[in-house]
Amino acid sequence: MNFTGLYGNEPAKQTLHDLLSEGRFPQALILQGESGCGKSTFARRIAQALVCTGGGARPCGHCTACRKSMTGGHPDILFVDGGPKPRGFGVDLVRSVRADVRIRPNEADRKVYILAQAHHMTEQAQNALLKILEEPPAYTVFLLTCESAQQLLATVRSRCMTVTLSGVSRSDAVRACALLCPEATPEQLEDAYRLWNGNIGRMAASLADGEVTRAHMLCGELLTALTDPSETALLTASAPLIKDKNLCRAVCAMLRGRFIAGMSGRQDLPLTPAQCAGCCDAATQALAAMDRYANQTLTVTLLCASMRRAFGK
Ligand SMILES: [Zn+2]
Repeated sequence: MNFTGLYGNEPAKQTLHDLLSEGRFPQALILQGESGCGKSTFARRIAQALVCTGGGARPCGHCTACRKSMTGGHPDILFVDGGPKPRGFGVDLVRSVRADVRIRPNEADRKVYILAQAHHMTEQAQNALLKILEEPPAYTVFLLTCESAQQLLATVRSRCMTVTLSGVSRSDAVRACALLCPEATPEQLEDAYRLWNGNIGRMAASLADGEVTRAHMLCGELLTALTDPSETALLTASAPLIKDKNLCRAVCAMLRGRFIAGMSGRQDLPLTPAQCAGCCDAATQALAAMDRYANQTLTVTLLCASMRRAFGK
């Protein structure tokens, strides 16, 4: 299978390649992985490979079927998306798929249905889908994308094979984001990587909406305030973190990265490695508190107090 331009995820690629080349591609496949990790991109590539009529590695990228797939105009690839709302993928959408399934493919040997964000399917929708999956016509392939297969009914899961996608390596993520966000500086790309753990979609979104830049600036302001003799400097600098939890998460993750680097002397910080270790703990605890949905004001206040203590004030 041809994965040109798709980064990382070598185990998933190997599995998909084997299934395709050995002619045993399942009729229902779940692609699971967190939002932004490339599930839709993979699903579209698989669909293209399944309808490609060219020789060699599929999709060949040159045959008529490939050209139609690439512009979204292949009649035998159907993309169904319930939208971003939880429970937005209702039974009516699945019923329309069920009606369409009975119609044979137009041009290819197969008909591929990409059911995107399947975790937003209602229970009723999933039960309707189950009816199709129990006796699918031989020419159909269903590709479901979802954050976790566990979000789907066990009965649906049992009819599907599951392939997991994850974030990619630092070098791949930075390379991919540099292409998607040509304006981003190398430092911003590194920050985005640390922030989103190699999830290319989230990295690019975060760079595009300026979140990385805002977090980066705040991170610098907090470090300056930390060494300020005034007791209130750090609290004042951290005020924007109380209102914006995403920004707070980004700043804490960035601070943590800086402190970890500082502990081994790899970062030019006005802190000793021991001070960095204490501050790193404070940032880690703040991230854990946000995961527990702790009170945001309390979390930020505690972060400041713990960092001040670690700094020796
Ligand atoms: Zn082709």
